[in-house]
Amino acid sequence: MDIIVDRYSKIKSNIDSAANVNIIAVSKTFSFSHIKPLIDHGHLHFGENKVQEAEIKWKEYKIKNQNINLHMIGKLQSNKAKKVIDLFDYVHSLDNQKLADTLANCEKVKQKKIKYFIQVNLGMESQKSGIPLSQVDDFFSYCTKEMNLNVIGLMAIPPNDGHEEKHFKYLYEANSSLGLKDLSMGMSADYLKALKYKTTFLRIGSLIFGDRANK
Ligand SMILES: *Cc1c(COP(=O)(O)O)cnc(C)c1O
Repeated sequence: MDIIVDRYSKIKSNIDSAANVNIIAVSKTFSFSHIKPLIDHGHLHFGENKVQEAEIKWKEYKIKNQNINLHMIGKLQSNKAKKVIDLFDYVHSLDNQKLADTLANCEKVKQKKIKYFIQVNLGMESQKSGIPLSQVDDFFSYCTKEMNLNVIGLMAIPPNDGHEEKHFKYLYEANSSLGLKDLSMGMSADYLKALKYKTTFLRIGSLIFGDRANK
């Protein structure tokens, strides 16, 4: 498992230590035995994309280790909101009004607040989640002013069209115009490009844990 820590350290060495950049180690599909070496190395941010998988993997450990930050990065159904508020510290996939309503209600009931990114569908791709860039202002107002959710930034998975930088630039600009300081962009294949546009949360899976398809 040393290779996991080695790969993580390599990524870390490509990030300016003065910049405010967090690596989210996306551990979906990998067991806790792959994750533990990173925790022992001092890493605290982990990402999962399925609520049930995350519960099985993390619930017990996190109760005893509250310094771990769990990030929900996958498509989220409103009926999972309660479990999400219990287990996660960040949601990166806030993308519709019903979900915002349900999460806000669960926060009230549980007297707990977490952090949110609004997911934007930059390329208007039908297979990807997220709201269109043109609706970000209105949805942001709704989430923050009416639902009182703590939205800290925008998130996107850019289209795989060879123009990732252009998309990262759009997201950075939209984020700045809302006065937001955090940005969730950059994955294994494009994180160096995302760093150029001041991302603050990289979501990196395969470059740390290895290929998910060939396990
Ligand atoms: C799986 C996943 C990642 C990590 O992808 P890699 O290419 O393995 O780094 C990042 N973001 C989201 C939303 C994901 O589902």
